[in-house]
Amino acid sequence: MIGKNKYPHLFSPLDLGFTTLKNRVLMGSMHTGLEERDGGFERMAAYFSERARGGVGMIITGGISPNLEGGFGAKLSTSEEAEQHKIVTDAVHAADPDVKMCMQILHMGSLAHGGNAVAPSAVRPRIARQTPNELDASGIEKQLADITNCAEKAKEAGYDGVEVIGSAGYLLSTFLVEKTNRRTDEWGGSYENRMRFPVECIRRIRDAVGPEFILIFRIAAMDMLEGGMSWDEIVQLGKAIEAAGANIMSTHFTWHEAAVPTIATMVPRAAFTSVTGRLRKELNIPLITSNRINMPDVAEEVLTRGDADLISMARPMLADAELVLKTLQGREDEINTCIACNQACLDHTFTGQEVSCLVNPRACHETILKYKPAKTRKKIAVVGAGPAGLSYSEVASGRGHHVTLFDAADEIGGQFNLAKRIPGKEEFYETLRYFTKMIEVRGIDLKLSTYVTAEMLNDGGFDEIVIATGIEPRTPELEGINHSKVVSYIDVIRGKTEVGKKVAIMGAGGIGFDVAELISHKGKSAALDIDTFAKEWGVDFKNHPRGGVTGVEPVVEVADREIYLMQRKATPVGRGLGKTTGWTHRIALARRSVKMINGCDYVKIDDKGLHVRIRDELQILDVDTIVLCAGQTPLRTLYDELQVMGSSVSLIGGAYEASELDAKRAINQASYLAAAV
Ligand code: FAD
Ligand code: NAP
Ligand code: SF4
Repeated sequence: MIGKNKYPHLFSPLDLGFTTLKNRVLMGSMHTGLEERDGGFERMAAYFSERARGGVGMIITGGISPNLEGGFGAKLSTSEEAEQHKIVTDAVHAADPDVKMCMQILHMGSLAHGGNAVAPSAVRPRIARQTPNELDASGIEKQLADITNCAEKAKEAGYDGVEVIGSAGYLLSTFLVEKTNRRTDEWGGSYENRMRFPVECIRRIRDAVGPEFILIFRIAAMDMLEGGMSWDEIVQLGKAIEAAGANIMSTHFTWHEAAVPTIATMVPRAAFTSVTGRLRKELNIPLITSNRINMPDVAEEVLTRGDADLISMARPMLADAELVLKTLQGREDEINTCIACNQACLDHTFTGQEVSCLVNPRACHETILKYKPAKTRKKIAVVGAGPAGLSYSEVASGRGHHVTLFDAADEIGGQFNLAKRIPGKEEFYETLRYFTKMIEVRGIDLKLSTYVTAEMLNDGGFDEIVIATGIEPRTPELEGINHSKVVSYIDVIRGKTEVGKKVAIMGAGGIGFDVAELISHKGKSAALDIDTFAKEWGVDFKNHPRGGVTGVEPVVEVADREIYLMQRKATPVGRGLGKTTGWTHRIALARRSVKMINGCDYVKIDDKGLHVRIRDELQILDVDTIVLCAGQTPLRTLYDELQVMGSSVSLIGGAYEASELDAKRAINQASYLAAAV
């Protein structure tokens, strides 16, 4: 296979003594929400076995709690529960007997939901609703026994191993740091005592499951917390865990309360692997690294540098179940790359919705959204090669239909061509690379620079017409809106207009934030340069102070501009942004002194600037540029005309619904429609 020569490290097996991993890629643990749903195990079986067929060497499930106190709902403590898990392990091993399937044991400790949360000390995490109950000595013994029992049940359920999470602010990690462990007994005080609980977990599990069972420990190799773990403590813990019987160490780079983004799209690829590399020099067991490794060349580079023995990809496996297989077959251009947006995965996890993927709506919906070969081959016209039209065309042609895809522009991508220009959103290029390749692979008849009219379609002999013409930017009704100071976000992002030194951005939705990022930005994009990222977020990879961040001040280069980011709503600016990424955008702009103003009424625009009323006070913002980012309205004239003509026509994406439309909705809607045609 081509890939074996091109990616020699990625495709070399890893011998663990009693078992062998067939390659160096594992699907990392991600909570999907399926664990707790009716029929969830059958859906998980389909979801994981697609990834097993897709070539991955090892799979680690989302976190499963060892007991009720551990939280999250999905629990494994009984043989009846183990029977349920067998649905998953049997399916994965049937899909490929060489794929190793491990279950993550997740005891959430003080972050557990409900009133049962337990922790070494009664310290409430900033992000938790309740203060946990302090464990007494017998409570600690119970947790250890439950965690050990959970590992035994995982073995009974047919898993090849378990991963125990010892990071991120969950139970094990809260024993490690003084801030959350104030005990004075044998489980607290000195570092040896604070390490005792995680080490004891691993020792007892190893005793219980025997030597021929994969036992992975997930360590906080850099927890990103002010006053967090020191490098010496991490190394000491790693060595003790190894001695206690773990046979793989997985490195993790966060704590839930940390103020450094570690997986968002603004984080450079493979930003943290050097930390794994340092730890690898101290230990004898293989190390897993992770975070923002989304393409095979990045993974190969990390392995070649000697930073790690194994690469964990979690979200990239949602985006493309066949990532490894495509790599092996030399079809990397066909990989649907994870763009690290978090919009359909982590944002859903943290808002209680089922997980999926923005670029691949089939993720976690394998039994629901099926792309079956079409019974009759139809001739389909799709107008608009934005995310909606592209997704529709890809799915419909993949099912055997003949698709002609039109766009008035001279390139595919629609608004993604604007998104990709925003510093920190460079990953959006990958989606366009993917679709460019798939147009070729699927034989889609692409007609660019073609403005389509209703007559053209009506006379074209198409069985189906799909309108994906997107949106028009909204122009608010306001005195002076045609003033020369007023510009559209499209012209600003495309660099087609001058932007002055004093700027008001009217509208603080996703696009308002992106425009603020673009025009306040100076220097390299942090997403493309690890040193710039480290400087901007105050991380010291070299010296590894406590948590990697203690005493390191963020240093941000800023464009010479005064910027106001404004909205009429009284809610805090940026509240509508993604649950897991919004805070990073708000912090980034605040560090560039962008003034975020809510609750403002726009009064008029004239030579003096933008007249606004903010909390009953009239003000004139003496700005020289006003950028309109005031939302969008659907562009559906073509659809309306075709309907009048009586054509069989469907409407998708922004053209269907523009209010708060995002690409997740556009791609999802297009894929379901194309699966049914
Ligand atoms: P569009 O992308 O608008 O595509 C419509 C296409 O139709 C265009 O290419 C147009 O040329 C073509 N067209 C129109 N009329 C005709 C005609 N008569 N004949 C031929 N062709 C025609 N969404 C997210 O989910 N996450 C993000 O992080 C994100 N960031 C963004 C950042 C920016 C700066 C912008 C502008 C948008 C961002 N979006 C983001 C929104 C996302 O890009 C849109 O939701 C998505 O592009 C909508 O897809 P669509 O296919 O419906 O329409
Ligand atoms: P949006 O999120 O709906 O925001 C529109 C903004 O315009 C709001 O701040 C709104 O605030 C303001 N507005 C609406 N009507 C107005 C009017 N008549 N006059 C003045 N202001 C008005 O839309 P968007 O920013 O255009 O983004 C479009 C889509 O792309 C959204 O779905 C967005 O989620 C997506 N996107 C996502 C990201 C991301 O990072 N996930 C980034 C970019 C875009 P007030 O009404 O309070 O003034
Ligand atoms: Fe990646 Fe976004 Fe898909 Fe999540 S939703 S897997 S971050 S592309």
